Amino acid sequence: MTWIFPLPNKNVTISSDLMSFKNIDLNISTEIPIHPHCGSFGFRRKHHTHEGVDLYAIEGSPVIAVEDGTIVNIVPFTGSSINLPWWLDTFAILVEGKSGVVCYGEIYPDYEANGIKIGANIKAGKHLGYVMRVLREDKGRPVSMLHLELYSHGITEPINLPVNAIIGETALRDPTQYLIDSLKYDVDVDIDDVVASVINVVVLKPEIKVDYYAQKIDPIENWLADRDINYKKSRPRIQTVRFHFSNNNDAETFRMKWVK
Ligand SMILES: [Zn+2]
Repeated sequence: MTWIFPLPNKNVTISSDLMSFKNIDLNISTEIPIHPHCGSFGFRRKHHTHEGVDLYAIEGSPVIAVEDGTIVNIVPFTGSSINLPWWLDTFAILVEGKSGVVCYGEIYPDYEANGIKIGANIKAGKHLGYVMRVLREDKGRPVSMLHLELYSHGITEPINLPVNAIIGETALRDPTQYLIDSLKYDVDVDIDDVVASVINVVVLKPEIKVDYYAQKIDPIENWLADRDINYKKSRPRIQTVRFHFSNNNDAETFRMKWVK
């Protein structure tokens, strides 16, 4: 199963250096932290073991679902209402899908959007909410991020891991490889299900095939033309158009932006 990266329209790199955020613009970029980065999964912190992966992003960044699933809970995630007063009030949405239960933490759920409620079935790419500021004090580190956790099936409440927890004895799993893999492969995106204003297609392979509904291709073609990106178009089925991108584009990686 392949995930869609949960922060659309960001340039994504991988980092083990906890200060490398200083070298990127968090308005348009983020990093997947790996050990010994303090935002990596399972990192032993002073007061707890890190239950997820911190994807730094400016406050208000949209968050989308990594895969199809069912919303199994929407809960306060940090803050005084749940006795974690050293953090600001944030929320989490838990979505159970093929790979388990993904917890999108430290966000503001988009209650205005259709289908953001417990029990709702959602598609990959569904707009879930926005990154919220979580840290009270600015200590020179990012103060807002998507904190993403992964659990085995059946979990509906996030777990707080103590300092010496043995992660393998809990329902927590490591989402890091899913996030890294989401950068490498093309995905089938049903544009009609994307409520967020943008989606990403990251091209790392010589050729990538993306199917879009035929009636939606104009903005995509305009976007490609604006950037001098070469592509061929074919129509494998009546309802879809397939774009073939070739590697002679200068950029090794580019992102496709689609505005609904
Ligand atoms: Zn975190």
